[in-house]
Amino acid sequence: MIRELLGRGEVAVIGLGRSGQAVSRLLARAGARVYASDGSRDAAVLAAADSLKAIGVAVSAGAHDLQRIARAVLVVVSPGVSPKAPPLTAARASGVPIVSEIEVALNFLPTTRCIAVTGTNGKTTVTALIDQLLRSLGVDAVAAGNIGTPLSEVALREVPPAWVALEISSFQLHDTPSLAPVVGVLTNLAPDHLDRYDTLDDYYADKMRLFARATPASRWVVNGDDAEVMRRTGGIAGTRYSFSLRAEALGIGGMAGMAGMAGMAGMASAGGLAPSAAPASQADRWTVVGHDLLSRADIPLLGDHNVANVLAAMLAVAVADPEYSTPEALARLVRGVRAFRGMPHRLEIVAERDHVLWINDSKATNVASTRVALDGMTRPTVVLLGGRHKGEPYTALLDGLARHARAVIAYGESAALIAADLGGHVPLERIESSFEDVMRRARALAQPGDAVLLSPACSSFDMFTNYEERGAEFRRLATSV
Ligand code: ADP
Repeated sequence: MIRELLGRGEVAVIGLGRSGQAVSRLLARAGARVYASDGSRDAAVLAAADSLKAIGVAVSAGAHDLQRIARAVLVVVSPGVSPKAPPLTAARASGVPIVSEIEVALNFLPTTRCIAVTGTNGKTTVTALIDQLLRSLGVDAVAAGNIGTPLSEVALREVPPAWVALEISSFQLHDTPSLAPVVGVLTNLAPDHLDRYDTLDDYYADKMRLFARATPASRWVVNGDDAEVMRRTGGIAGTRYSFSLRAEALGIGGMAGMAGMAGMAGMASAGGLAPSAAPASQADRWTVVGHDLLSRADIPLLGDHNVANVLAAMLAVAVADPEYSTPEALARLVRGVRAFRGMPHRLEIVAERDHVLWINDSKATNVASTRVALDGMTRPTVVLLGGRHKGEPYTALLDGLARHARAVIAYGESAALIAADLGGHVPLERIESSFEDVMRRARALAQPGDAVLLSPACSSFDMFTNYEERGAEFRRLATSV
């Protein structure tokens, strides 16, 4: 549909970040007339504008020409642009179709096979794992989408990859009607983004667009431990493979493998519960597509949520192609899991000094993700909490802290609020000077055999540019304070 539109008039690209630039290039290379605009005039936008002008793209930096956008044949929106932004309102009012940058790129990648990943949490980790597992099979794969590399950059390559592991958010799914992945993965569903959606149901409905083009040949990997996911995916066309950490919950035990095999043979239909990655008889071993493959020791990541992420990724790759579930391929996948080093800023072990483990979980910018981090701790832990408050009470952390915290250091703008919620229940100190002081105090409090965990439950913007900078500073100071 998109390629037919291109000859009929101008395409407007909203946002000149990395994906806006890449999709502008892709469209220009295909011979389209392109108008790209960005509300900002910062140095990065101006540099992007210069390089796009050089290839014949019309550019506005600092303002959007709304009338021009309203006359376009197609509007391409970058991730992060609010649906309520004026350029999109203008496009909608004039009936101009709005699509994501991913939608355009998919049209230029007809031979690349796709495993698409969505869900509230774990998307980036699962996408990175799938990419690594495909590579461990010797397959030409890339990870793209929300994880960092825009899909349009992949589409610009001279030789397209055989596979793409695509992380896709609910916002992007909303505007990507062509998506028809070989395997679609739904990690979990939980409340989020209520600043951008009117209701939770609207948010879940966008997530469910992953399944919009389901056919009897589709393959879906879903979280068998998530009742909302299971309820919503029950009647969808195709084969549904589920993963689970809890044998008891599903009443499967040793039968898990057989159900998985049935799924592989295409006998498990949508709606049939076919757990294909599930606990084997012992609690710390897991069966994938009928093979008792993984033990906890094979997974070099902290936290049970990461076991779920590994099972999701292994299952997605194993069912993606019949050749990927042979005994040799499965053995390679296990080696791929063992070699996975995790993602930066997500329960990332950055140092071990004097028998103290320093763990960077700077990506935990809300209370739910800090709870997950605390659940993953196996040592007495000095927990660093603080930053810019996002409105949630910290009392939901009390249970995890009572089990794992040697001490809490509350720092940054939210220190007083954290102390008010948690003080008196767990040993807590407030430090309102520099982050370096926080780290020095953590070092003094930690005993041999302990961990120091930065899992702040807050955004970073009071002291840092973003969570990446906060995590990098933690890493630097972990080895130098
Ligand atoms: P996303 O890309 O969906 O934001 P990430 O893989 O970047 O997910 O992980 C972000 C945070 O979400 C992690 O630091 C962790 O606290 C939490 N998380 C990761 N995987 C899961 C999971 N499977 N279930 C629940 N929480 C998770």
